[in-house]
Amino acid sequence: MTTIIECTLLDFDVEKGEWDGVAKPVTCRRAISPSGLPFCDYSLNPYSGCEHGCVYCYAPRMMHRDPSEWRVVGVKTNIVERLSRELPGIKGRLIVGTVTDPYQYAERRFLLTRRCLDVLSKSQMRVTIQTKSDLVTRDSTFIREMGADIHMGITTIDDRISKMTEPGAPLPSRRLAAIRTLVGEGVDVKVNIAPVMSTISGHETELAEAIADTGVGKAYVDGLNLRFTDTERLDRMGIAPSDESVTLVLDGLRERGVKTELFKEFVELYSIKNDLQ
Ligand code: SF4
Repeated sequence: MTTIIECTLLDFDVEKGEWDGVAKPVTCRRAISPSGLPFCDYSLNPYSGCEHGCVYCYAPRMMHRDPSEWRVVGVKTNIVERLSRELPGIKGRLIVGTVTDPYQYAERRFLLTRRCLDVLSKSQMRVTIQTKSDLVTRDSTFIREMGADIHMGITTIDDRISKMTEPGAPLPSRRLAAIRTLVGEGVDVKVNIAPVMSTISGHETELAEAIADTGVGKAYVDGLNLRFTDTERLDRMGIAPSDESVTLVLDGLRERGVKTELFKEFVELYSIKNDLQ
């Protein structure tokens, strides 16, 4: 049985939502961190830890965190106040959700991402949001009005495979529906097909077709990078990188008019650690 730890430090108008995750209140020394990525100046992660529990996740090892604790969500109780203090005079590209999902289920309850976006909307930052959750549609009007873009992560269109590889994340069918909704609402949305794994072998065309059918205009594709990942677990599950699948996905998307970019070795580029506390 899972436990809900009430974060009594939060002074939020708590939205009731179905959520049975484990959370703990934490404080952060700073809200935004300089990013080592070439296309991003700053990063912001409203939560530490991530309930999605993806088997290919490299974040805990990269951050020197205990992987067995990664699904315990740290709710950064002071992040909104810190962000308000740090933003004046700063501008550039900021990515929300570089190492944890800002729209994981805890966000239904704690609203940190929504409140951070509210602060960011009054700043000079250009904002990108990375997520694997359809919860982002809750804030779509606000996101469109502030001119932010969304990168939705998809690794398979098979809900059964997703349940095994991304057990806590919303199913791909819900993510595809969310992309369709966002595109229809005029939100700038892209797809991150990352990582491409052997789990999609033989189904690359279906994946490309499903993504193209949402109406999205651009997709970023990345292979499975084994650095920092739990390779023993991947071996046990028979999951491996597949360059052939990467090529087939890229070709399938291009044939269907989706612009693509190969996002090679994301983790290698990620040289600066984000502040998770
Ligand atoms: S969504 Fe990202 S941060 Fe969360 S478990 Fe999956 S790979 Fe890790």
